[in-house]
Amino acid sequence: MPGNVLKAIREAGVVGAGGAGFPTHVKFGNKAGCVVVNGAECEPLLQVDRQLMVSRSKELLTGLAALMDSVGAGRGIIALKAKYTDAIEQLSTAITDSRVEIFQLGDFYPAGDEQILIRELSGRSLPEAGIPLNLDYIVTNVETVLNVTEAIEGQPVVDTWLTVSGSVAEPLTCRVPVGTPMEEVLHLAGVRQAPGLAVLEGGPMMGRLVSDWHTPVSKTTKGLIVLPAGHALIKARQAPPEQLLRRARSVCIQCERCSQMCPRRLVGHGIRPHRIMRMLAYAREDLEVAKSVLLCCGCGVCDYVCPMGLFPKRLNDLLKAELGKAGISYRGDGTEPQALSHRDYRKIPGKRLVSGLGLKPYDRPAPVKEAAIRPQRVSIPLKQHLGEACLPLVQVGNPVKQGQVIGEIPGKKLGARVHASIDGIVVEQTLTHVVIEAVE
Ligand code: SF4
Ligand code: SF4
Repeated sequence: MPGNVLKAIREAGVVGAGGAGFPTHVKFGNKAGCVVVNGAECEPLLQVDRQLMVSRSKELLTGLAALMDSVGAGRGIIALKAKYTDAIEQLSTAITDSRVEIFQLGDFYPAGDEQILIRELSGRSLPEAGIPLNLDYIVTNVETVLNVTEAIEGQPVVDTWLTVSGSVAEPLTCRVPVGTPMEEVLHLAGVRQAPGLAVLEGGPMMGRLVSDWHTPVSKTTKGLIVLPAGHALIKARQAPPEQLLRRARSVCIQCERCSQMCPRRLVGHGIRPHRIMRMLAYAREDLEVAKSVLLCCGCGVCDYVCPMGLFPKRLNDLLKAELGKAGISYRGDGTEPQALSHRDYRKIPGKRLVSGLGLKPYDRPAPVKEAAIRPQRVSIPLKQHLGEACLPLVQVGNPVKQGQVIGEIPGKKLGARVHASIDGIVVEQTLTHVVIEAVE
C-alpha cells in the first residue's frame, strides 16, 4: 500500500504547505523511523495550524498514520506549543494509535525551524546542511498532512489555508482557492487597498512585502499581515540593498550579538552573521565565510536583536541569491555538531518577540471564517513548489473543472502537479501560469 499512498500524493500535487513547497511524494519516498508533524507555527500572528489541529484532529491523525505506514515509521510525533491547550486537548482525545504521541514545545522563536525542532525533540543537532532524515526523522506540516488525507480520498490540492491579520477590522483564518488574488482574500477581513497600508505575505519575521495586491495565493501562502505603511517591519523590507550595505559599513560595531543569538549557531553550526556582515561591508572576498550563509534559515533573529538596527538577514538573502546564481553550495562534513551550552538561555520568548516587533495591538484571535470565497478569476502559478515549473496541459478556450490537472511535472524532474481550483474557462496560459475565469 505505501506505493499507493505516494502515488495518490503525487497525483494530488501535495507540497510542503508551511515552507518552500518541497514535493511531498519525494520527501516521503524515503524510509524513516519517525514522522513528525510540525505544529509549532511560531511566526507571530499566524494561526492556521493551531486551528486545524483543533478542528481537523481526526483527519490529521488519518494522514499521519498513512504517512507513517508509507515510510515504515514506528513512531509519529505531533509537535506543538504547550500553550496550544485547545489543540492538545483535542488531539489527546482523538489519538488511538499507540505509535503516536504529542510533544509539547516551549513558546520561543523559531521553535518551528526544522533544525531547531529536531534539536528539541531528540536533544541532538543535525549536521550542517543536513536534513531530519540524517537522524531518521521526516518532518511535515499540519496542512500538508491534511492534504495527504484528502489526496488518499482522491482530492487534489486546490485550496490553501491562511490567516489574515494585523491592522484589519476582523482577523480571520480561511480556506481559499489557489490562484485567488490576495486583494479578494483581504476583502474578507474588511481590508481595502489604501496608500497608508502594506501587506506581508507569510509571517512578520520571514515574510515578504507584497508589491501587487493582485498577486495570487499559492499552495504555500500561510498568511497575509496588514500593517501601516510606516511600520518598522515594512520600512525594513523597503530599504534598497545599497543602503543596507552602506549602513552595515558605517554602523556595524561588530558586537557579535547577531551571532550570539543566531538559532542555527546555537545548535552548533558554523554560521556567524557578524562575520558575514564584516565581509560584505568591506567587500572582502572570503569564500568560506560567504558559503556559511547557506547555513542560514532566514529566521530573522539577527535583524531582531541587532542593537544598531541593521539587517543581517536581508543581506544574507542577497548573498544566498548570488551564490545560487554562481552554482555554489555548502557541503557539510556530516558530523554531529555540539550545541552551545547556553542555548536554552538565548531562546526568544514568543511574547517578547510580539512586543519587540511592535505587533502587540495586532496579536488577536483570528478564528476560522467558513465564508465561501468564490473568485471570478484565478491565476494559478505553474511553479508553487521547489523544483521545475509544471508544463501546462490546457490552452486558452478550454473548459476546465475544479480538480482537473492543468500542469504536469516535466518528466522525472523534481516538481508537483497543479490543478484547476475552480470550474471555468482558460482565458490565459503562459509558461508561468494559467488563468481561469469562472462560468456562471
Ligand atoms: S548585531 Fe548588528 S551591530 Fe552587532 S555585529 Fe551584528 S550586525 Fe553588527
Ligand atoms: S537569519 Fe540570522 S539569526 Fe537566523 S539563521 Fe540566518 S543568520 Fe542566523
